[in-house]
Amino acid sequence: MTVNLSSPSPYCVFKYFLSVFAASPQIFINNEWHESVSGKKFPVFNPATEEIICHVEEGDKADVDKAVKAARQAFQIGSPWRTMDASERGRLLNKLADLMERDRLLLATMESMNAGKVFPHAYMMDLHVGIKTLKYCAGWADKVHGQTIPSDGDIFTYTRREPIGVCGQIIPWNGPLVMFTWKIGPALACGNTVIVKPAEQTPLTALHMASLVKEAGFPPGVVNVVPGYGPTAGAAISSHMDIDKVAFTGSTEVGKLIKEAAGKSNLKRVTLELGGKSPCIVFADADLDSAVEFAHQGVFFHQGQLCIAASRLFVEESIYDEFVKRSVERAKKYVPGNPLNAGINQGPQIDKEQHTKILDLIESGKKEGAKLECGGGRWGNKGFFVQPTVFSNVTDEMRIAKEEIFGPVQQIMKFKSIDDVIKRANNTSYGLAAGVFTKDLDKALTVSSALQAGIVWVNCYLAMAVQCPFGGFKMSGNGRELGEYGMYEYTELKTVAVKISQKNS
Ligand code: ADP
Ligand code: MG
Repeated sequence: MTVNLSSPSPYCVFKYFLSVFAASPQIFINNEWHESVSGKKFPVFNPATEEIICHVEEGDKADVDKAVKAARQAFQIGSPWRTMDASERGRLLNKLADLMERDRLLLATMESMNAGKVFPHAYMMDLHVGIKTLKYCAGWADKVHGQTIPSDGDIFTYTRREPIGVCGQIIPWNGPLVMFTWKIGPALACGNTVIVKPAEQTPLTALHMASLVKEAGFPPGVVNVVPGYGPTAGAAISSHMDIDKVAFTGSTEVGKLIKEAAGKSNLKRVTLELGGKSPCIVFADADLDSAVEFAHQGVFFHQGQLCIAASRLFVEESIYDEFVKRSVERAKKYVPGNPLNAGINQGPQIDKEQHTKILDLIESGKKEGAKLECGGGRWGNKGFFVQPTVFSNVTDEMRIAKEEIFGPVQQIMKFKSIDDVIKRANNTSYGLAAGVFTKDLDKALTVSSALQAGIVWVNCYLAMAVQCPFGGFKMSGNGRELGEYGMYEYTELKTVAVKISQKNS
């Protein structure tokens, strides 16, 4: 499908979506649409206009219980899902990816309107990544192998990687569609059943994906989607006695609650992908134009609402002033506005809470003595926009250098030596991502091995691939997603030892 990005078509598509698919978006359990047990609904907003898009049925503990029953039933021994060929699970995932491709314009429009994503990014990147993720996972479905093991004695031993069971998957608002595919793809490839709770701000694309799950032909109960709030529906998942694993992407603060709830309930398996305050280190010998651009994209992409945002930029002393000058010029070229319009680089922040938090952190930067180079306040008077902001002369103890901002705010710090910058870069409780820019191979390898981060980019930033494991050191998370390692997070490993009459080598 081709799309003219300057045409108003996304608006038409969205109107169509509202009238046909989601006049009253509901809870998806057992391949059926349900009203909430409580009878409550919650409003979903367009952050660019602050207007309500629609109301969605509000899931809570009782709805989660219903979804868990459906998912447990679908996971019973002998069920259609449990007896299905692994290759058939892969075929269904491929089918789902094809349906996403068919509805690409619709999904991208929803994502742009509900999550504030710049439309071309939603259409070309989020949809691309989502579809690719499902196809990658589809390929894994019949390639998750066990081993045969030469154990001692007259015993034949093999291992099996079995599905864990019913998985609760709690996802955030910054990449609703991509996160949906990152969660269900590996879980379904390995034969689990799932209950997805999208973020309360952004449930729409997950609900449309639910309709595609049914259309693709997944058996009832394999995928369930329960929209609702964190402390209610989310907490019901993390503390549920009959959920076998919880996978969470979101804040470190909530990640701790999830792990605690898992420990206090049934010790369900937990994987967490949490916050970050990722360092990006630019040495004086780096290709300056390229480093400025990557560092810029690294922190401004999607309004800074990325857990991997390059939000601590360390620049070597001798190029510091020039780097700041170029970074400010670059940031000033950014055009904020309604993300569905052509020519826009920056959409709104997701909601009032985030908007207020970002503006507060910007004020703290000013008060604590950082030099405001550009931006520094809200943009426009409608919608949750923040001016692209650059601070120089930032020091390590300032709040803007320590706290995750999740906004379009760049902090540029100065460093003198390689030892100094490694220590400072690691001096954080986070450890999600990092970048290093230099033409010196020895420096690149020394720094990348010393940095405590789940992914280190050399002479680039934000280079993510579905084939590569992703996750955090320290308080940025537990476990990995994607790649081979990500698959295994959705399996239990079983050893089977069989007595035989005589073993031969
Ligand atoms: P943010 O504060 O940036 O919105 P959160 O970590 O609060 O990020 O939200 C990420 C996801 O976690 C959302 O789906 C949200 O509803 C959910 N969530 C929030 N609080 C809880 C909680 N106490 N238990 C389980 N899930 C929660
Ligand atoms: Mg929160």
